[in-house]
Amino acid sequence: MKAAVYKGIGQIEIEEVEKPRINSSEALVKIEMAGICGTDVKTFVRGGHPMFQPPCILGHEFVGRIVEVGENIEKDFTEGTYVIAPYIGCNKCEACREGKSELCKNKYATGGAFAEYVTVPEEILKRAAFRVPDDTPKGVMVLAEPLACAIHGIERANIKPHKRFLLWEVGQWGVY
Ligand SMILES: [Zn+2]
Ligand SMILES: [Zn+2]
Repeated sequence: MKAAVYKGIGQIEIEEVEKPRINSSEALVKIEMAGICGTDVKTFVRGGHPMFQPPCILGHEFVGRIVEVGENIEKDFTEGTYVIAPYIGCNKCEACREGKSELCKNKYATGGAFAEYVTVPEEILKRAAFRVPDDTPKGVMVLAEPLACAIHGIERANIKPHKRFLLWEVGQWGVY
């Protein structure tokens, strides 16, 4: 399959790589669309993310169609189902137990989505994969993960209606 392989700061190359094979507890998803996250940009521009050491395939905001399901997958995801399947915390470490799974160092993640296929582990299918109706615009569904991040941030900041707040956005402060 083709994949955009991150080779180091400022270097991404389209390469032919081996198509991932699933084990009995994974599903294979054909990527329909993948978003570019701030994390991908930061990794590409500054090389700074411990989770993504080159060479690797970036991309974790995606919508895709299940094309193969391992025999141990119990949840009702069948071939042809469209899914979004973000990374999730381990639910066991200190950060996860404090409700800060975004800081979990043992995250369950799929392969990088800047590729034709990714494998999705059972744990993600069980806890975090969402079925997408076939006719939903894929350009909308691919934004589910960044939307969830924004909602989570607003909840954590405890922003209430009619309150003013200060926001750092793309290099500048704004008062709202
Ligand atoms: Zn993201
Ligand atoms: Zn954890």
